[in-house]
Amino acid sequence: MLKIYNTLTGEKQEFKPIVENHIGMYVCGPTVYSNVHLGNVRTFMSFDFIFRTLQYFGYQVRYVRNITDAGHLTDDGDVNNDRFVKQSRLEKLEPMEIVQKYTVDFHQVLDKFNLLPPTIEPTATGHILEQIELTQKLLDKGYAYESNGSVYFDVLEYNARGLNYGELSKRNIEELFANTRDLDGQSEKKNPQDFALWKKASPAHIMRWNSPWGEGFPGWHLECTAMSTKYLGERFDIHGGGMDLKFPHHECEIAQGKACNGHEPVNYWMHANMLTMNGQRMSKSTGNYILPMQLISGENDFFEKEFPPAVVRFCFMQAHYRSVLDISNEAMLAAEKGFNRMMEAIRILDERVLRTKVKEDKQSTEAEISKLENQKSAFDIIAWKVKCDAALADDFNSPILIANLFEAVNFIFKIKDETEEISSIDEYKLKEYLNKYVYDVLGLKHEDSSLHHIDALDAVIHLLIRLRNEARLQRNFALSDQIRNELSSAGIVLKDGKEGTEYNFQ
Ligand code: AMP
Ligand code: ZN
Repeated sequence: MLKIYNTLTGEKQEFKPIVENHIGMYVCGPTVYSNVHLGNVRTFMSFDFIFRTLQYFGYQVRYVRNITDAGHLTDDGDVNNDRFVKQSRLEKLEPMEIVQKYTVDFHQVLDKFNLLPPTIEPTATGHILEQIELTQKLLDKGYAYESNGSVYFDVLEYNARGLNYGELSKRNIEELFANTRDLDGQSEKKNPQDFALWKKASPAHIMRWNSPWGEGFPGWHLECTAMSTKYLGERFDIHGGGMDLKFPHHECEIAQGKACNGHEPVNYWMHANMLTMNGQRMSKSTGNYILPMQLISGENDFFEKEFPPAVVRFCFMQAHYRSVLDISNEAMLAAEKGFNRMMEAIRILDERVLRTKVKEDKQSTEAEISKLENQKSAFDIIAWKVKCDAALADDFNSPILIANLFEAVNFIFKIKDETEEISSIDEYKLKEYLNKYVYDVLGLKHEDSSLHHIDALDAVIHLLIRLRNEARLQRNFALSDQIRNELSSAGIVLKDGKEGTEYNFQ
């Protein structure tokens, strides 16, 4: 039974999808006005791991992660400080060139860390019509008002109708109102807590669209409601994002959804915790950040050496997604040690399985095969797998999963040292499960995968050479010729000599 910590209820709850075996999941994507920093990567990786785990449990997941390419204003909320417009002035590029440049960067970075693409990746600018329609709906229902060419969500009206603005972030509306003042004194809004659904574009504002309220652009919170509703429906299973999006972004999404449809838009709200560096939250604005490529290349002032992306991923996976993770030189060095030990164990096991396979292929008598099958193991694979799955089902507990994986890793080193034994059947099962957890679920990658593949290819070719020799001994020339010819057409040429058969690539 899968349990998910739901920020809305503040509890770990049994997960029940709306449609059996199917899950709709929406995760707030990046605002593509500059390079993603390593902190952003952590949040996206947390949800990539969650996506992978849900698939591992057999769910069919429609995973929507948007690209915010319009409407996200800087923190001061000044229309003239649209992040894209500001950056385009700085870089002397069109806003849509900024969008393209950093969308490409975002994809390249996530690819480096082996994140799977979402199943749908919609953009805010591709859904202006839907956002205008939503704004109109909220106006028609009386939850919004037009003011000077902009449209605002009326938070007081929402609460007056018995709805609860603040239910996700556990904020009290009275306190919110007491503690905020309209700093800029512009009284376009009825209340400072009201948020923009549609913003009037100033004459200098390049990113603008026609609307019933004049030329403007959509508010940031609205795009996520528009796109999640379009692709996942008015109510869907999981909505995720970084902790810092809980308020106001996700609070506003809930308000928009409930005002439009009269019910909660999302069943499970999931929030990933922050990455800190040397104890301080990673953020562009404070300057305490590192770009992913700087960590990978070693070109930075924080870390003593470069770290491969899989080691970074391993480091991130060692923390639960709801815990703060502090990245430091020591943490990275420790992660590298752990990762290398795990990969070495996998290599040892892979080799053993391959050798056993060759042995089994050569041993033709049933007695010999049954001897292999009757070998004893000191490791209870089934009980171990149950523990690993339980960790995953307990709100995606990756650190506990990794601790369990290390039980297997330590055991593999013991079989290598011949202080423990494993049957060939268990050996095969362990390899299969371990590969699933390490590669499919945790999304780790063998850093030197090309070398790994060459080793495997070499073993396969030698296996075929041995099979061909056996066929020849049994005077089965049709089979021996077939092996040679098919290898040849795959570009692998066999040469028979006194020392045996050699091969080379054409
Ligand atoms: P943004 O592009 O600013 O909208 O951020 C993209 C995602 O990165 C959001 O889900 C944020 O919550 C998340 N994020 C921002 N800073 C950090 C951090 N230091 N650690 C983890 N996630 C972060
Ligand atoms: Zn969002």
